[in-house]
Amino acid sequence: MVEQRGTSRRLLVLDDERDVGATICMMARNAGYETDYTDRIDVFMERLETVPPTHVAIDLQLGDGDGIDVIHRLAGLGCRAGLIIVSRLGGRILESAARAAVENGLRLTGTLAKPFSYAELKSLLIAAESQAPENSGLPADRSVRSVSEAELGEALAAEAFVAHYQPKISLATGELVGFECLARWPADEPGAVAPDVFIRCAEQTGQIHELTRQVYRSALAWRPPCARGKPLKYALNLSPLNLADESFPRWLVDECEAQGIAPSQVILEITETASLNNPLVLLENLTQFRIRGFELSIDDFGVGYSSMVQLARLPFSELKIDRMFVKGLATSEESMKIVTAVIGLGHSLGLNVVAEGVEDRTALELLARAGCNQAQGYFIAKPMSHRAAALWQASCGWQDG
Ligand code: C2E
Ligand code: MG
Ligand code: MG
Repeated sequence: MVEQRGTSRRLLVLDDERDVGATICMMARNAGYETDYTDRIDVFMERLETVPPTHVAIDLQLGDGDGIDVIHRLAGLGCRAGLIIVSRLGGRILESAARAAVENGLRLTGTLAKPFSYAELKSLLIAAESQAPENSGLPADRSVRSVSEAELGEALAAEAFVAHYQPKISLATGELVGFECLARWPADEPGAVAPDVFIRCAEQTGQIHELTRQVYRSALAWRPPCARGKPLKYALNLSPLNLADESFPRWLVDECEAQGIAPSQVILEITETASLNNPLVLLENLTQFRIRGFELSIDDFGVGYSSMVQLARLPFSELKIDRMFVKGLATSEESMKIVTAVIGLGHSLGLNVVAEGVEDRTALELLARAGCNQAQGYFIAKPMSHRAAALWQASCGWQDG
């Protein structure tokens, strides 16, 4: 849990240009802030918990990622810190990033184009003064509890990881088509370690291979009843690192066979990311999954890297529109235009298009009207244990006999 540390103003700066970071900190200290600086995203995410800030300043171009990624992660964590976006990239890009932050529900304090003057930073910090401080930036039930390699290892040894199930429905018929299976540790309770956190740790420590197998085993162990004679699909998240494990495709085929599940019922979701960086190996591995009968989905489409290139070259069968665009549908004409264009793009490539993060009826109706194939989100149901999912399915009447 995040410790409460009074109401003093604390600024956490993330910038890969050390001198810029130092300048911001120095100016902020003059304005009465406590400051903390790092040039690394992982350290920044950790400090959010250990030294909770009231304000954060983020550069858009970072050595180990980009500011939009960080914004997205802060939004995913429900961060309430005042956000200052800093960049050398010019007004239009800064504006777009600021809009993304606001549409993601973050509290934008302002933007700062490099090089900036002391007066500019000072006026931003004055604006920040009028924003009520919200300590730690993170809601109490969704703290960035970090996790150590050893802790993760112990949880894996105890087989603590389970899958929770979130329904996906057809927008044409309203029928249940399957579930996305999401890793949970050890249970989906307030204060539990968030999937984004333990998955990153597993990727960094090489434990992702065991974690993936444990989650998949848990996910495939529940066999939901068919709906209208059609077997339901399991959407499983795959880390790009899993693709380096040559034994994995065979393991998955055997696991499906042991559970009596056809590969065509399994959709592997891969997030578009910079680490999909060995095009030939990737092309071969992904093609092998398709040859074995699995479906492939490009996850979080629209917020990552080189989407178009990956989409055109790689054998995906499904595209999942990132929830950032879905969230703004009812209020932002731009989000609506983007979502409509992405649906058109997906269809022109012959892909099944899924919208995630559907939180209200308006979004559901707009997506249906725009021709999106499937939807997933809190408006339909939150991720649930298999017991809760079975009850939910029965209560909706989406099961045979
Ligand atoms: P994802 O694959 O994009 O999964 C969707 C995320 O959106 C889930 O977060 C889900 O709980 C959340 N979500 C669903 N509907 C809504 C909604 O209406 N509103 C909002 N605000 N959020 C919604 P979760 O479970 O925290 O997972 C986060 C990410 O962690 C996943 O994003 C996925 O990238 C990763 N992940 C989860 N399980 C696994 C796994 O077994 N293996 C790997 N490699 N990654 C996983
Ligand atoms: Mg997913
Ligand atoms: Mg997603």
